[in-house]
Order: sequence, then C-alpha cells, then structure tokens
Amino acid sequence: MDIVAIVGRPNVGKSTLFNRLIGEKQSIVDNVSGVTRDRQYGQSNWNGKEFAVVDTGGFVRNSEDVFEAAIRDQVQIAIDEATVILFMVDVSTGLTDLDEQVAHLLRRAKKPVVLAVNKVDNHTRQLEANEFWSLGFEETFFLSSVTGSGTGELLDAVVEHVENREEPERTIPHVAVVGQPNAGKSSFINALLGEERNIVTDIAGTTRDSIHSHYNKYEREFMLIDTAGIRKKAKVYENLEFYSVMRAIRAIEESDVVVLIVDATDGVEGQDLAIFRIAQKRNKGIVVAINKWDLVLDKETNTARDYELKVRERFAPFNDLPIIFMSVLEKQRIMKVVDATMQVYENRTRRIPTSQLNDVMQAAMERYSPPNYRGKEISIKYVVQLPLAYPAFAFYCNHPQHINDSYKNYLENQIRANFEFSGVPISIFFRKK
Ligand code: GDP
Ligand code: GDP
Repeated sequence: MDIVAIVGRPNVGKSTLFNRLIGEKQSIVDNVSGVTRDRQYGQSNWNGKEFAVVDTGGFVRNSEDVFEAAIRDQVQIAIDEATVILFMVDVSTGLTDLDEQVAHLLRRAKKPVVLAVNKVDNHTRQLEANEFWSLGFEETFFLSSVTGSGTGELLDAVVEHVENREEPERTIPHVAVVGQPNAGKSSFINALLGEERNIVTDIAGTTRDSIHSHYNKYEREFMLIDTAGIRKKAKVYENLEFYSVMRAIRAIEESDVVVLIVDATDGVEGQDLAIFRIAQKRNKGIVVAINKWDLVLDKETNTARDYELKVRERFAPFNDLPIIFMSVLEKQRIMKVVDATMQVYENRTRRIPTSQLNDVMQAAMERYSPPNYRGKEISIKYVVQLPLAYPAFAFYCNHPQHINDSYKNYLENQIRANFEFSGVPISIFFRKK
C-alpha cells in the first residue's frame, strides 16, 4: 500500500487533517480491539484508492520550539520512505523561514509533493494564501482542515499519485524484520544470511527501496525485507523512533509475515506495540522474537514462562501468536524463529473448505448460540471463508448489526481452537441473509 506522509511545522494542522482522513474507520478498529488510538498511522481511502497515512507530527513534541533540525530530519525520512508527501503550511502565520527550508528539501526530492495551505477558513485568508504560490509547487491547494472545505480537491490530487496495488501473488513468503533501534535486527539478518548478504550502498540522490534478500537454506525459502540494512540513522535523537516506525511501515506493507524483534532487557515498549498494531491492522502474520535472552540473568525455571505471559498480556487481545526467546549473539533459537515464521505464513494462507468450516462452527453455535437482541432471535445460517490473502470469514445471518463483540470474539476463538491460525489476525464480518 502506498504511504502518504504529512509533513510541516508544528501547529499548522497536520493532526487535524490526519484525524479527518482516518477518522471513522480508525474508531471502528479501536472499538473492536480496545487499542488506544494511535496518532501516527492510519488507513484511508479516497475515490476507491486505499493508502496509509502517516502524521509525522505525532512523533515530536507539538510545540513551537521544536528544534528546527528535528523537522528537517523528519522531512528527509519522509522523503525516503513515503510515496507522496503532503506538505502543510498555515496561512494564519504566513510563510516562515522553516517553511522555506522544508520546501527547499522537498523540491530536491524525487517524490511527488502536494502543498496544502491550511486554515483558509474565509475569504480574507483566501487572498492571503496566494503568497504560498511563491514556494513553487505546481500542486498547491487551499483548505480548512477544521471545516473540511478544500480537502476533497486536495485528496483528489494526492490519490493521483497513489496506485491501487493488489497484494501481489507470491511465489515465496516475504518476511519483514522490524523492531526498535538496537533490538538486534541487523545481527539477526546477518546470522541468517552470513556472507551472502547483499551490501547496498546509499547513493546520494537515488531513491532507495527496502533491501530484499533471498534466503534459501535447509529447505526453507523466503525473501527477507530488511529495515536495518541502511545505517543512515536519524541525526536528531528524538527522531530515532519516527525513523524506525516509518521504516517498519514500509517493510510491513511489503510483507506477508512480520518478525518483531524485542530487546529482552527493555521488554515490550510503546513503540514495539505501535509497530505490532500496524502489522495487526494490516492483517500480516506476526512472530515475536524476544532477543538478547543471554542478558537476562537469574533464569529460574519459570522465568521464560512468566516473561512470556507478561508479553502476551501486552499484545492482548490478539495474542495467539508465537513468542520465541532467542539470543542472536549465542546463536540460540534463531532457527526456531525461522520455523515459526514459515508456520505463520502457512497459517495465513490456510483455506478451510466450506463444509468443514460449517460443521465445526454449527456445532460451536449450538453449544452457545448468539444472544437475542431485544427479544429478536438471532440466527446465523452459515459461514464462508472469503477469498482474500489473509483469513477472513463472513457469517450470514438475519440481523448482522445486532451481533455483539463478545459473540464475535467467541466465534473467532472457536475458529482458532479448531484450525491452526496462530500468528495471524482473523477478520470476521456479518452479512445479511
Ligand atoms: P499539528 O501540530 O500540525 O498536528 O497541528 P494540529 O492539528 O494540532 O492543529 C493546531 C491547531 O490549529 C489546533 O488548535 C487546530 O484546531 C487548529 N487548526 C487546524 N486546522 C485548522 C483550520 O483549518 N482552521 C483553523 N482556524 N484552525 C485549524
Ligand atoms: P538493530 O539496530 O536492531 O539492527 O540492532 P543490531 O543488530 O545492530 O544490534 C544492536 C546491538 O545489540 C549490537 O551491539 C549487537 O551486537 C547487540 N546484540 C544483538 N543481538 C544480541 C544478543 O542476542 N545478545 C546480546 N547480548 N547482544 C546482542
């Protein structure tokens, strides 16, 4: 999926537009999973085209005194990773030096840029807004994120640069290795690929793609998508987080299965969870590898089990997934992670024949039938698996809108109890019959 990055100074209105773009859909996702709304990443669609939106402002302190270098740095990362840059400026403050600096960076970038002049709420501002033409962007739009006026034209222009990419037919699994800086991603990939790893140097002025490396050993074959390969770290410390999430999003979009590497000495942190939720929302398979297990001292019999329980709690409600304790340094359980990854890939592509699915689910629904809604009896007639790249099931019933979340969870748990979908998010829909 293509990525649209919103860049610009603090307080120009980036997050207001972001919320407008992802608003409704996001809150539905949140109700289902109980996940706190994240300000950084969401999905949107316009004119039938789907795209991911990243609000770069979600990553830095939202104050006027944000270090200028931090913003320039962020813009550079967005240029590297996004498909389209939505550059936002604010008519109420007029053109600033920082706007000029950002514009300078963007003009040199070989990525499409759409300039959004925001807070054009009335006619006077409409006239004032014309000064922004001096930035020299052919695609300049005037809007008010608060009222929504002008956002339609802006989005029309943005999606011109977005392609409706179908998930490509795979011949081999694509595996993204993601995680926070220093979790051990490079070490893990090096351990797998050894000498065969492609060293790709960063040539100034060229657009880079993520590095794909082909792994084919011991009868296991897959494509590794590397987010660690390029050591062009963010210059400004507070952007490290942004850098790693932005890279992770790109890699996740291109993958079937995501291996999330977590540093055992830090535990699962907010940023790990953010990456995890992105993978979950995108219906990717997920394997969690807790690395640097060698550094966890006082290992008693139950240390790993207790640690694992805590990790599962953090990932709830989606926690039917492999969690593996490894030490890349001591070459412990690296192949276990590989095997889990292959298994999760297989689970994600699993297709359950309709008759078998209905036998099992009818029995489950007889054991515990859907609760009535205001005296109305709810009956589910049958279920089919949808022909998608990830597991998704449609239950046909008389009152689809009145099936509650707890029953939906019950159905998902029954599917998981009867078929092997470990590591894979499952989508469930109710349709009228
Ligand atoms: P960000 O820091 O770029 O993410 O900016 P925010 O989205 O947090 O917006 C900063 C302030 O500008 C908030 O008080 C918004 O309500 C306000 N704002 C955003 N868009 C508009 C707009 O179109 N018109 C006006 N008048 N205010 C806006
Ligand atoms: P990346 O930023 O995620 O690519 O992390 P690196 O692979 O560069 O690793 C960061 C640091 O952690 C390096 O100094 C590695 O040597 C170290 N490291 C990686 N894996 C392990 C491990 O299993 N145990 C220990 N003790 N150190 C590790």
